Amino acid sequence: MPELPDVEVFRKYLNRTALNRKIEKVEVRDKDVLGAHSARSLQMKLKGRKFKETERRGKYMFVRFEKNAWLVLHFGMTGFLKYYKNEDQEPDHARVIFNFANGYKLAYDNQRKLGKVDIAKGLEDFAAENDIGPDVLKDDFDLGKFKEIMDKKRGLVKSALMDQKSMAGIGNIYSDEILFRAGIHPASRTEKLGNKEVKKIFKALKTVLNKAVEAEVDPQKMPRSYLLPNREAGRKCPQCKGKIESRKFSGRTGYFCNRHQKKIS
Ligand SMILES: [Zn+2]
Repeated sequence: MPELPDVEVFRKYLNRTALNRKIEKVEVRDKDVLGAHSARSLQMKLKGRKFKETERRGKYMFVRFEKNAWLVLHFGMTGFLKYYKNEDQEPDHARVIFNFANGYKLAYDNQRKLGKVDIAKGLEDFAAENDIGPDVLKDDFDLGKFKEIMDKKRGLVKSALMDQKSMAGIGNIYSDEILFRAGIHPASRTEKLGNKEVKKIFKALKTVLNKAVEAEVDPQKMPRSYLLPNREAGRKCPQCKGKIESRKFSGRTGYFCNRHQKKIS
């Protein structure tokens, strides 16, 4: 499922391929992915415009095409973008296709259709309306802010990190990776964490997410000492003599080391 690092990779991909190209047509193949704007409205608003710049807030991507108008893309569980020219390169589950004057297309592919394509006036408005917390990889998301948020949270630390309303960008995979690096068990209670642990998690959060963006979210390009290339129950932990275990946390299967990740409860 696309999390912040994936969205950042998609954003850079769009910047490299589809920016500043005149949009000729917007083809909506499946209305299920549309938000408040109809296919007709998307076509009317985007036709003749160009994508000017991109932004990210957690798992959302924003693409500006007018002074106060942004295309909003959310990738749900299976979404991604593909820029291509020939029909035979079209991805299998293209739900919306932006056709450019240069003959190329940008497809928003999403097999499970849980994402969203919409239009917003601005990032702040959209975030407020949809209750999206601050992006965790932005510079202004600092230790002070993280502490303030964590101080108010109760329950599993893994769930706290994944709560998009409090802080945006972390999902199932990267919450595991962050806690693995911080040496804290995912079932630890957030309200029991001390300052030291909160600081450790914060540091791991920044390091892990930056590393994932740098590795273009390819598990094979991640350091061997990370959980991602070893995300399988029964494997040897790359950090200690422990074993990787998996279990469900609030409905999601999480992975952790049974030895070096301390349970604080
Ligand atoms: Zn370990």
